Amino acid sequence: MSEGAKANGLAGGCLCGGVRFLAAERPDGVITCHCGQCRRFHGHFGAYVTVPRDTVFFDADGTLAWYRSSDFAERGFCSRCGSSLFWKGDASDQIEIAAGSLDQPTGLVTLKHGYVADKADYYEIRDGLEQAPGSTEAV
Ligand SMILES: [Zn+2]
Ligand SMILES: [Zn+2]
Repeated sequence: MSEGAKANGLAGGCLCGGVRFLAAERPDGVITCHCGQCRRFHGHFGAYVTVPRDTVFFDADGTLAWYRSSDFAERGFCSRCGSSLFWKGDASDQIEIAAGSLDQPTGLVTLKHGYVADKADYYEIRDGLEQAPGSTEAV
């Protein structure tokens, strides 16, 4: 990896430091997901950046574990501290990284909201950004 990639990339990790990574390719921004799976996985809605899987490099992954959350995807988390970290679809060469796991400042902004048809009833989305009822891929 070049020093330029390191300078432009985003570092992140879990609460205990058992998982540390560098996303070498800078994502466009953050997309939230309000689906029922993300709500349970994160304890609230999900917020992700999407990057090519082969541009994510791990400095530490000793406690990284994967849970098969559906027929087509796995969710990555820290088996020691419980931080929710990743979503990856079997058919995709990309990985979604939980935006909250990134070191601050990210310099990113939230772009849009996905799966708002499934959002929980205890909050409203009032930031004026685009809201897709289902996947953000379709809009
Ligand atoms: Zn951890
Ligand atoms: Zn979701």
